[in-house]
Amino acid sequence: MKKYQYILISLLLISNTLTAQNLTQVSVDKAREVIDQVVEAYGGSERLNKLNSVMIDFETSNLAVNQSKKPGPPWDVNKVKDSSMVDFENQQFVSSIQSNDERNFHNGIIINGDKSFQVDFLAKTATPIAEPNFMNTAGSFIRVTPALLVKQLMQRANTAHYLGQADVDGKPHDVVTLVMEVGPAISLYFDQETHLLNKSERFFGVFGMVGYRFHEYKKVDGIPFNGRFELFVSGENNMKRHNVRTQINQPIAKHTQLSDKMAQVAPVQPDPLARQEISDGVYLIGGNGTYALFVEMDDHVIAIGGTAGIPERIGLLKEVVPNKPIKYGVLTHHHGDHIVGGQAYAEEGTIILTAAAHEQVVRDSIEHDSYKLETIKDQRTFTGKQHELQIIDVGPTDHAEHILVAYLPKAGILFQADHFGLRSPGNINPAGQATQDFAQSLKKHKIKAKSILSAHSALVATDADLNTALKLAKELVQKD
Ligand SMILES: [Zn+2]
Repeated sequence: MKKYQYILISLLLISNTLTAQNLTQVSVDKAREVIDQVVEAYGGSERLNKLNSVMIDFETSNLAVNQSKKPGPPWDVNKVKDSSMVDFENQQFVSSIQSNDERNFHNGIIINGDKSFQVDFLAKTATPIAEPNFMNTAGSFIRVTPALLVKQLMQRANTAHYLGQADVDGKPHDVVTLVMEVGPAISLYFDQETHLLNKSERFFGVFGMVGYRFHEYKKVDGIPFNGRFELFVSGENNMKRHNVRTQINQPIAKHTQLSDKMAQVAPVQPDPLARQEISDGVYLIGGNGTYALFVEMDDHVIAIGGTAGIPERIGLLKEVVPNKPIKYGVLTHHHGDHIVGGQAYAEEGTIILTAAAHEQVVRDSIEHDSYKLETIKDQRTFTGKQHELQIIDVGPTDHAEHILVAYLPKAGILFQADHFGLRSPGNINPAGQATQDFAQSLKKHKIKAKSILSAHSALVATDADLNTALKLAKELVQKD
């Protein structure tokens, strides 16, 4: 009996191995067949080989998932005007993104060998990119441009596999994988009748399934380009985009040039975890773009801010304040990147403080059997021998309906998230609507901050910096 089972299992293993080898061959052959039809549908191999540059202007609506003014859906819609252009022969890539609503920003990126920059068109600064990577940067544009995906597929046909057949909008599609130089494999869904790409998807550890949909094809010099695009994250619509203008095989060199008005600023310096004592017993601790404030009271410490890396920040605090427990941990608001600290505070045994309206989002984000949470409506004041600390809801602003700030009236120190900050010394951007609302609210609450600390910057801004940002915004409006 045992012998018989053994033989049977061996036979099964052998037959599985044989089928697997055959499957690979069948899959590669079938992929080639599909790719040949697709290349024809996209204007033929000669046209695609000669397709060297593509420039597209977009109008995009982004859904602010977990980043809206309210804690849940429906999410806010942020509108931008953006554009991308690529030149394969010269390994150049240029893109820009500009707010198309009340948020003031206009940024860009230029990849052009050793003349590569990050550009801030409003601040008129260009920051050199130390190690530009053409394919890495252009990849995001290639992934939303079917003709460029097909060009990639043609060049990398030896990596492609046939996944099978699937229905999209009730029509049968062939599904082929494409492996680009970087990133996870992309599954491409080609309509069996038109051989055009209608859908693609890739799987990311952090985001889950990211889906792309392409609509309304029109030919540009014999090559089909989509007129509309949608992005889905884990099945939820995240972006809707209208391709306003598509141009091909135009030189893009002039767009890689910086205007004379641009000031070159020093490359962004690495930002390791560090502790700054802002005032006696008041510490700003953080690095890599996230910071928390710690205020030493008589027999405990109050922590403010819930961004990434709270345990390491607490570690650095304990080097200088070893004997006082952290009694309270304040979460400024409900946005995804500002509530991750809730878990850390729960594990630390800290009482979590949040705006009443954000209690549910915060509770949903914490996995812990027993933790303490108290809510703040409008304001709560903590008084010690040395410090008075006020936690104040300065919302609503254009960023969030409720937003808690920490204010030390005696020292004139204010800690806030997402409403004002300096990215590099002296680099002040015109105030967007959220910053303008915030400044108004400070007046209303009689907050006189000399030093303004930020959850996203190690730099200490001043009230004069905030006034400069407001003035720059006014000047922008006058120019329009
Ligand atoms: Zn936020």
